[in-house]
Amino acid sequence: MNDHSTEQPAETVARLRATFRSGRTQPVEWRTAQLRRLREMLTTHGADLAEALHADLGKSSTEAFRTEIDFTIREIDHTLEHLADWLRPEPAPVPAHLGADATARTQYDPLGVVLVIAPWNYPVQLLLTPLLGALASGNAVVVKPSEMAPATSAALARLLPRHLDTDAVAVVEGAVPETTALLAERFDHIFYTGNGTVGRIVMRAAAEHLTPVTLELGGKSPAFVDRGADLSVVADRLVRGKFLNAGQTCVAPDYVLTDPETARALEPEFARAVEAVFGADPQSSREFGRIVNERHFDRLGSLLGSGRTVTGGHTDRATKYIAPTVLADVDPKAPVMQEEIFGPILPVVTVADLDEAIAFINDRDKPLALYAFTESDHTRERLAAETSSGGLGFGLPLAHLTVSDLPFGGVGESGMGSYHGRYSIETFSHRKAVLSKPLG
Ligand code: NAD
Repeated sequence: MNDHSTEQPAETVARLRATFRSGRTQPVEWRTAQLRRLREMLTTHGADLAEALHADLGKSSTEAFRTEIDFTIREIDHTLEHLADWLRPEPAPVPAHLGADATARTQYDPLGVVLVIAPWNYPVQLLLTPLLGALASGNAVVVKPSEMAPATSAALARLLPRHLDTDAVAVVEGAVPETTALLAERFDHIFYTGNGTVGRIVMRAAAEHLTPVTLELGGKSPAFVDRGADLSVVADRLVRGKFLNAGQTCVAPDYVLTDPETARALEPEFARAVEAVFGADPQSSREFGRIVNERHFDRLGSLLGSGRTVTGGHTDRATKYIAPTVLADVDPKAPVMQEEIFGPILPVVTVADLDEAIAFINDRDKPLALYAFTESDHTRERLAAETSSGGLGFGLPLAHLTVSDLPFGGVGESGMGSYHGRYSIETFSHRKAVLSKPLG
């Protein structure tokens, strides 16, 4: 393994481009070998990565394996199982004026050198899942882990070069200056996960080179609770989905939208569910994570006064702990309702009925996810038809992103493009049109 640690971004990209041009990344055998090595890295060094995730985010080992390491292994296995099938050229019918001997097909071409920029909240999964999709599509890849999860960034920078082809995969660590320098280079695709402000910076830089982008962003994902839903089940699922990773999940239910009567009935259910999942003292629960840094801790602390506390509210700056908190009687104009919360605070906002809920959702940015808890087919159909969101989950938050055969991505302010499973191949390949007409 050569040491490329002193390389400048332009040199890294040129080196990877030379590998790509040599054709080395093209054969399916090379791609599947990289995926197998990545899998081996995860199975051999899962505990190292879990330790880094605990250092950065207080993630429990169970959570680290479930939501990051095993999640990525499943995605690798799914891709290995189906890749040959996904890459198969697809014949297309040819119109009569081209003659009966003409044939047409589409074929997937790799794009070239891809840049993946990852965030801190799921710093393993959100770096490796795009990486494996880009490799499966036959590209060379530069990955940039988030500096806000420094232990995980260091672990990935140490492990990836030991397992993958270093002429085709480079890890560049760093913060804004390093990322800015990378973005000045020409890539063939940029895959960015994070917030919309930086998303705009990425897209502007990409425009200079006409580079296509995938932007996996966030926003406020609503959870609508219908009259008559089983509130004990609803509270249980919302608590598990919302407070996973201390609420620092892009598809976490951001707020609850329901009628006043259901809102009142939900209050004791939320308190019970938090205790059932995290115990009477969540601060001592190994399953409950911590806020990533003081800046986010202070930001979240300032949102706690946005409503009446149903459960939680306790904080400890020294350990960056914020209790799983549910707020009732929250005004839509309150601070907690202005931006994505991205922390363990769940406000409940009331609306008169489904019509008002739909209007409330449509008055705001298109969310990354919309959740609804209802027994009514009519309500499900109306929400599906009358709202727009990256994904739609009935009865269970977060789970849609674990279905490898579903595209994962946002719409409008929550992002553009998608990935996972075969959608990663669509994202990281060019679907080329090929027409053949014999000369004879
Ligand atoms: P972050 O601060 O780690 O930033 C993400 C990446 O952008 C990092 O690698 C960082 O180095 C880079 N970056 C930061 N400033 C930059 C700049 N000025 N120029 C170039 N690069 C820069 O993560 P974050 O943005 O705080 O992540 C949280 C946000 O991400 C939330 O809005 C969340 O909803 C969203 N998110 C979305 C998804 C998804 O899959 N759609 C997943 C996770 C997080």
